[in-house]
Amino acid sequence: MKFDLAYCLSLDDKLSIYDVRDLNFDESVAFDSAKEHFQCPNDACRLAFDAANVLTTFNAKNVNYVRTPHFKNTPGTRHVAECPYVSLKAPTSGVEADGAEVDDGREEHFPSELLLTRREYVRKPASPAVAADMIRDDVKPASAASDVEHPSRESAPDKTSVFAHPVECFVSNFADKELLKRMPLKIGEHTAPYSSFFKKIEYLQDNKGLIYWGKIKEIRDYTQSFRIDFEQKVWFKQADDAKKKPYSVNVYLSKKLIDNYRKRKAFLEEIKHAIDSDKELFCFFYGVTPELKQVPSKKNPEQTFGVFSANIENLDHFIVREAPGLLD
Ligand SMILES: [Zn+2]
Repeated sequence: MKFDLAYCLSLDDKLSIYDVRDLNFDESVAFDSAKEHFQCPNDACRLAFDAANVLTTFNAKNVNYVRTPHFKNTPGTRHVAECPYVSLKAPTSGVEADGAEVDDGREEHFPSELLLTRREYVRKPASPAVAADMIRDDVKPASAASDVEHPSRESAPDKTSVFAHPVECFVSNFADKELLKRMPLKIGEHTAPYSSFFKKIEYLQDNKGLIYWGKIKEIRDYTQSFRIDFEQKVWFKQADDAKKKPYSVNVYLSKKLIDNYRKRKAFLEEIKHAIDSDKELFCFFYGVTPELKQVPSKKNPEQTFGVFSANIENLDHFIVREAPGLLD
């Protein structure tokens, strides 16, 4: 059983595992998922048990994960019989032989929208024990089964502000082309199925404002920036050319941008790991579209050559990761 959300006691809010990862790596907030209490997102279920009835996390703190992060039951987690999160794998008795749960490694909860404004969290100024009592007093049991507390909340379960979430949906379900065609994704004003919102870097001329992705050829570490070179080239015909020619594609990451990033440490770990890795890596980004630029040649600075290039402007919408399922 995987949970799309879990109730976080200290934040008094329901979080996705991607929210949790974002908080873990955020150096501007004090949050450590290993010390937090996560509970069943079904209010009625949660209220039936004490604060010790918790869920656990998988890949909540691993910067470079391959297998899909999620919340799961502990061997002792209990749910009420009518809880929608009860499954055969998590009996209501709470007694499981070995606590082992089947994990097919796919992200099943597709956000329908990536919010470009980051979610804000307000921590409750109370100890976990007091917080649990407050929750019990607050909630009306009759309406507790559904999430009716914040009906218009922007962080509704089908929306996310964490880029890694839709990326994980795309990566882990890549083999299921029909599913990716069916599931819609909205970013800003643009809505498209996952299958077309994610655009291979070599086809970036097809449409602007998409999530571009491609296999990384090389990452170069310069004084002021990192440069990510993609393996695939863009075929483009310039005005004075007779036919299309292949052009390299790259994106630049400014080190100044990284130094000011709230997830600086985790980001540098991601990049350093990528530079040292002998695995095939992929880069995903949203917010900029590489354009043809003329840059001076290293060997002969008077000469220039064309390359499709962009400067990443928001590190929240940039990911380098392993994605074995995307390899042909
Ligand atoms: Zn439950």
